[in-house]
Amino acid sequence: MTVQTSESYPEIREAVRRLCQDFPGEYWQALDRDRTYPTEFVNALTETGFLSVLIPEEYGGSGLGLAAANAVLEEIHRSGCNGGACHAQMYTMGTLLRHGSEEQKSEYLPKIASGELRLQAFGVTEPTSGTDTTRIRTFARREGDHYVVTGQKIWISRAEHSDLMVLLVRTEKREDVEKPSQGISVLLVDMRDAIDDGLTIRPVRTMLNHATTELFFDDLKVPATQLIGEEGKGFKYILDGMNAERVLIASECIGDGRFFIDRASEYAKDRSVFGRPIGQNQGIQFPIARAHVQLEAAAGMVDKAASLFDAGKPCGAEANMAKMLASEASWYAADMCIQTHGGFGFAEEYDIERKFRETRLYQVAPISTNLILSHVATHVLGLPKSF
Ligand SMILES: Cc1cc2nc3c(=O)[nH]c(=O)nc-3n(C[C@H](O)[C@H](O)[C@H](O)COP(=O)(O)OP(=O)(O)OC[C@H]3O[C@@H](n4cnc5c(N)ncnc54)[C@H](O)[C@@H]3O)c2cc1C
Repeated sequence: MTVQTSESYPEIREAVRRLCQDFPGEYWQALDRDRTYPTEFVNALTETGFLSVLIPEEYGGSGLGLAAANAVLEEIHRSGCNGGACHAQMYTMGTLLRHGSEEQKSEYLPKIASGELRLQAFGVTEPTSGTDTTRIRTFARREGDHYVVTGQKIWISRAEHSDLMVLLVRTEKREDVEKPSQGISVLLVDMRDAIDDGLTIRPVRTMLNHATTELFFDDLKVPATQLIGEEGKGFKYILDGMNAERVLIASECIGDGRFFIDRASEYAKDRSVFGRPIGQNQGIQFPIARAHVQLEAAAGMVDKAASLFDAGKPCGAEANMAKMLASEASWYAADMCIQTHGGFGFAEEYDIERKFRETRLYQVAPISTNLILSHVATHVLGLPKSF
C-alpha cells in the first residue's frame, strides 16, 4: 500500500490554490455576515471538476481516490475558504455508488459528476435520537409503488442547495426487528418534487455559515424505485460511507490548521512590541511550534486512513482517529492563532475569528469526539460497551 502524503497531488493542490485566490477573505466575510451560500465558489469548483474526483470515470468523474479529494479540501481550507458548502457533493454519492442499482447509478451519477444535479444533503440526525441513530423515528411506509414518509430531521446541511437527498428512514419499527440496526432503509429523495409537497425546509441559524436546516416530512410520497439497495439494510450502507466523510472532514481540519499556523507565523514575524517581533518570544513561538507538531501527527493519520480506504482495506478505526486528531489539532491551532494576534484576532477582516468558529464544528459533527473515543475503546481495545 502506498501512503499518499500531504504533498501528494501537487498539480491538484496548485490548481485549487489558484481557484481560491478569486475568493478572498472579503468574499467569505460578506457571506458570513448575511449567512448566505457561496454559490460562485461552488460553481467554480464544480466547473473545474474538483467535486467529482471520487466518481468513477465511467460515470463522468475523474475516478481518483480519497487522497486526491483530501488534497482538494485541504487546499481549500488552507487558503481561508470553506469546503463545508459543497464537500458533501463529493461523498454523499458513495452510498448510491456502492449500493445503488445500475439503473440508478447511470441515471444519477453522470449528472452529479457534471454538476447538473446536486446531491449534497444527507439526512440522518433527528432531534430526539441524536447520535443514537438506530432510534430514528422518521418512517417510510410502503403504499403500492410509493413510500410515504413522515417525521423530522435536524441539522441537515445544504438541503436548500441540493436537488437530491440521501435520507435515512425506518421501514420497520425498532421494536419489531431483532437487532436495532435492522429495519432502516435509505431513500434517494428528489427534493425538487418534494418541497412544499410533503417536505418543508426551515433554516437554522448557527454560529457559522453552514446552510444547515430542519426538515419536516408530512406524508411525503417517494417512488419505491428510489430505495437504495435492499429494504431494511440501510444502516450498514450509510456506515461505510461515513468513513470517507470522516477522512475528508479531517483533511479540512488539516487545511484549517495550516491556515492558522501560516497566519500566526507571518504575524509573529511582523508584529513588533517592546521593540522586537513578538515571534522572538518563546511564549509566542512554542504554541505555534506545538500546533505544527500536533498537526503533522494528525496529517499522518489522515494520510494513513485515506490510503487504507483507497486500497479497499478496513479503515474504520483510522478514519475515526484521523477525524479526532485533526479536529483537535485544528482547534488548538485556531486558539493559538487568536492568541498570537491579540486583539486583531477578533477583527472580522483578519478572517481568524471566522475560521475559529468554522473549525470548532468538527469536534461535534459529523461525529462527536466522545463517540469516537467510545468506538476506539470498544472496537479497537475490546473494552466493555457502555451503550
Ligand atoms: C452545523 C451542523 C451541521 C450538521 N450537518 C448534518 C447533516 O448534514 N446531516 C446530518 O444528518 N447531521 C448533521 N449534523 C448533526 C451532527 O452530525 C450531530 O450534531 C452530531 O453527530 C452530534 O449529535 P447530536 O447533536 O445529536 O448530539 P447528542 O447525540 O445529543 O450528544 C450530545 C453530546 O453528548 C455526548 N454523548 C452522547 N452520548 C454519549 C455517550 N454514550 N457517552 C459519552 N458522551 C456521549 C456527545 O459526544 C455530544 O458531545 C450537523 C450538525 C451541525 C451542528
